[in-house]
Amino acid sequence: MAEQIASKIHLNGKLKNFKKIWEMFIESSDRIKVSQKKVIAKWKLIPPEIIYALEAVPYDLLLHEGLTRNVERNRETHRYAIEAGLSADFCPWNLSVTNKILSEKKSTSVTSFLGASGVCDASLKSLEIMSEQTRKPLHAIEIPTYNIQSEKNAILFLEEELKHLFEVFSESKEYDYFEEYILFEVKIGNRIRKIIQEITHLLSHKHPPMSSLEYFIIHATMGDYLQNPNLLEKILIEIKEEAKERIKDKNIMNSNMNDASRIYYIGEPPQNLRFWNLIEECGGVLVGCDTYLPLFYETIPETNSILKDLAKWIWENPYHMPIPDRAESLSKHIKRQNPDCVMIGNSVGCRKLASSDKIIKEIIKEKLKIPVTSIEFSSSNDDISLLEPHIKAFIEISK
Ligand code: SF4
Repeated sequence: MAEQIASKIHLNGKLKNFKKIWEMFIESSDRIKVSQKKVIAKWKLIPPEIIYALEAVPYDLLLHEGLTRNVERNRETHRYAIEAGLSADFCPWNLSVTNKILSEKKSTSVTSFLGASGVCDASLKSLEIMSEQTRKPLHAIEIPTYNIQSEKNAILFLEEELKHLFEVFSESKEYDYFEEYILFEVKIGNRIRKIIQEITHLLSHKHPPMSSLEYFIIHATMGDYLQNPNLLEKILIEIKEEAKERIKDKNIMNSNMNDASRIYYIGEPPQNLRFWNLIEECGGVLVGCDTYLPLFYETIPETNSILKDLAKWIWENPYHMPIPDRAESLSKHIKRQNPDCVMIGNSVGCRKLASSDKIIKEIIKEKLKIPVTSIEFSSSNDDISLLEPHIKAFIEISK
């Protein structure tokens, strides 16, 4: 299956060990079918350790049903999602996810859904529809918007939300809630965070040691650790070492994309993974991406008041900040990657990104003094090549 899909996009093959990640990535949707544990389908930026601590398997819906499984499919109509009440011009990611889950609603392996309110309304609405139609419960954590004036109350509130989540699961599944379980899972998650941070740092090198597609998928594994954090950690260490070797070996590095324009990507990407190939065909290379950055922007403090610290970490996540604060915080991460330019992706139907686009663009331009462009993705999965003139022209002016 993995090889069949890979033939449709170019897995540029810079890293030998990338094949292992790719296989894990593509096989996630089959893996949950044979899981002996509960499968909790989650909104992408909920830290997966919360679900592992519930002795369940996390499943990042946008990643696996919106992206990976989209690679397998031909053009789809979103019939099931629309019949269930979503409008045809809704966010395409959520349309695809809802459509896929509802098309298999009698046989879905998902046992419950976990969302977040106060972040992406479209995702929460999709989760509500999926929960209603599949008759699987939905739990939603409310995440207060970041505001330093209300820090104490906001963290207390979020801590209570997390406590409630664990209590709900312990009541319905006779699961005893212990903070040590969370701490145990956070420690594993933090080891993965550190490796992804180190891999990201390697991209700040003059010649990035991996392709754009490779990095995008590697950083997206933060969504749910591909249902196997221990195996993922082992493979990521191999990838990190291989990338370091590539940087040391000047012969390899000098032959690769010497003049490529270094691009930092912000926002939701298109659902077609060919986009990352297209960036390189147009003369660019990805040196950082904020799509899953909120899950590894920092490690979670490993203390005995883990619920409080986890609540604080979630609350301080750049994604939960008002737009100007988010842009300020993001600028620091972008600067570290030493990009030549920044690309902001907007999906048709996404109100969240559309409303933030202008402010983020202005703040980043002012802080970093590099070109910034916005790209709009339509709901069609086939027209990625239509973006080529825009990307090419932008890369040209960024050099
Ligand atoms: S593209 Fe926008 S609406 Fe869709 S999942 Fe992302 S943030 Fe939510």
